[in-house]
Amino acid sequence: MKDARKFYIDGKWVDSIDGTDRAVINPSTEEEYATISLGGSQDLNTAIAAAKASFAVWSQTSKKDRLDLLKTILDIYIRRGSEMGEAMSLEMGAPIDLANGLQTAIGQVHIEAFIKTLENFEFERPLSEGAKNDRIFYEPIGVCGLITPWNWPMNQVTLKVIPALAAGCTMILKPSEESPMSSLLFAEYLDEAGVPAGVFNLINGDGAGVGSQLTSHPDVDFVSFTGSTRAGQAITKSAADTVKRVALELGGKGANIIFDDADAEAVTRGALHCFENTGQSCNAPTRMLVQRSRYESAVEEASLAAKSLKVDHASKSGNHMGPAVNEAQFLKINSMIDVGIKEGARLVAGGTGKPAGLNRGFFVKPTVFADCNNEMAVMNQEIFGPVLSMMPFDTEEEAIKIANDTPYGLANYVQTQDPAKANRVARQLRSGMVEMNGNFRTAAEGSPFGGYKQSGNGREGGIWGLEDFLEVKGVGGWNLDC
Ligand code: NAD
Repeated sequence: MKDARKFYIDGKWVDSIDGTDRAVINPSTEEEYATISLGGSQDLNTAIAAAKASFAVWSQTSKKDRLDLLKTILDIYIRRGSEMGEAMSLEMGAPIDLANGLQTAIGQVHIEAFIKTLENFEFERPLSEGAKNDRIFYEPIGVCGLITPWNWPMNQVTLKVIPALAAGCTMILKPSEESPMSSLLFAEYLDEAGVPAGVFNLINGDGAGVGSQLTSHPDVDFVSFTGSTRAGQAITKSAADTVKRVALELGGKGANIIFDDADAEAVTRGALHCFENTGQSCNAPTRMLVQRSRYESAVEEASLAAKSLKVDHASKSGNHMGPAVNEAQFLKINSMIDVGIKEGARLVAGGTGKPAGLNRGFFVKPTVFADCNNEMAVMNQEIFGPVLSMMPFDTEEEAIKIANDTPYGLANYVQTQDPAKANRVARQLRSGMVEMNGNFRTAAEGSPFGGYKQSGNGREGGIWGLEDFLEVKGVGGWNLDC
């Protein structure tokens, strides 16, 4: 059993003051393999004090110093990449090839993109050509509370920690209690890179013990949160009394609109995308809307994709689907499948229970429901599992209306070989991201990631992700000669 109970505070690995033990469980085997500490308010106060004290010096460092540090972090991240892949695979069940591949690579992509963004960013400039004595400054916002989920651990951690460092902020990272091991490893990288004491601090904990106190603390200036809409709502309220800025990246229920002129692979590609990472992606295309003339064949294709997808242990190499992250998620996915059946959706693949031969581990079946409607829970609630809900449509207007008829607005998808139609539909979808014809645009280097409506209010990545960590100051009467 690995002892991983220490926190990283003020440049040192320290014991928790008021923590309690929690087991880290491998979701493929249900076995405990590490113990972490869930911190309390004394741990958090120590970390916040360290971040506050280090802000005075770190906020004044030069862009060059911060760029040099980010480049060192990048080198370490690349050199120690296989350790990261293994840590994520064990803690949240991503199959090892996915964990060593996209799950790790996406962190590298973000670090590289923020290095480029920082290189080109002007922290100080005149307001305009005609107003040279009006000076605009971008200054680090202060002490940041960073709260992340478990589903793409390094994606979310790098989208927060790296721009915070780039901006000159100091921070407390509270990773998900479900995926603490990758963040502890990331803290080792930052320590090795020489991040000054107090600039980066890590505390493990749950929402009630650490998260809610971090978001209400008067010495925390900004909260960047990724997770469920439920927690995002609680955090917004908790941060209100101290009027701190809050950036939220929340849930989604992406629509994938398949027109009758879509390419031959569109349905299979969409179904497999829905099942990727065991369906545990906020931007997963979980609602498939298919134009009626192609609908029945699409149901068959999606069903075949689900039935052909192998489910197996995360430690095995291959492009199979791993387990759900934990027992609670396993139960939730199964209960939502049950709800879908009771609501009258047509089950064409998968269903409740574990796949044959997998009696231990939180394994679920890739599941496809056909003939859904927008009133059904499987169509309008985020399941966060490998469950695809299909429904037919007749016209372009109807498809757009169904796609937008949701409280979420994170990512939507369009499949058509008519370029004008694709552009027309993309403009009308009420979401922060639209991917067309399998172009994986939203994960591109430096592109904005975030949602409309109840999917959140922030944009991570690129210049938008950096600006979240900056305050804007306008100075009138600036003396150009000094
Ligand atoms: P979650 O909301 O349960 O937990 C996320 C994090 O918030 C964890 O670190 C948790 O400890 C903490 N937390 C929980 N309650 C809190 C509270 N009241 N105050 C402060 N912190 C609290 O979410 P999860 O199950 O870890 O992740 C899945 C959710 O995250 C899904 O809804 C998914 O769509 C969403 N997500 C969104 C994005 C995005 O960029 N929009 C990316 C990934 C995941």
